[in-house]
Amino acid sequence: MLDTKATFGHSATPIELAQEIRLGLLDARSAEAKAGRALHELRRRIEAKSIDWWPWFTSNFFISRKRAASLMRMANAAGVEPEPITCVACGMEFTPSRRHAKTCSNACRQRAYRGRRAGGPR
Ligand SMILES: [Zn+2]
Repeated sequence: MLDTKATFGHSATPIELAQEIRLGLLDARSAEAKAGRALHELRRRIEAKSIDWWPWFTSNFFISRKRAASLMRMANAAGVEPEPITCVACGMEFTPSRRHAKTCSNACRQRAYRGRRAGGPR
């Protein structure tokens, strides 16, 4: 039988690596949304002092106005992003890609299912 672990390092299977990459991308997206929310908050404070936001932004920030606008759009879209939950099979925290997901991966989903069938984890 082929041992896939041998080709991908000692600790992770290809499926686990793919999962890691997916979670990494989700983390990056939520970090960007967080930056966007901070920009919205900053804009509220600046405009509360009757200062024009974009001119103020341009003279105080090193990122482009276009980049900032894109981050702020992301923050608006991120309102529907699911909260991270704990996998019922391995206990790892993850952000579910589907609603009602209880496990971080197919492997864990199957493990949880087999565990239930066998009357609990052995
Ligand atoms: Zn898991």
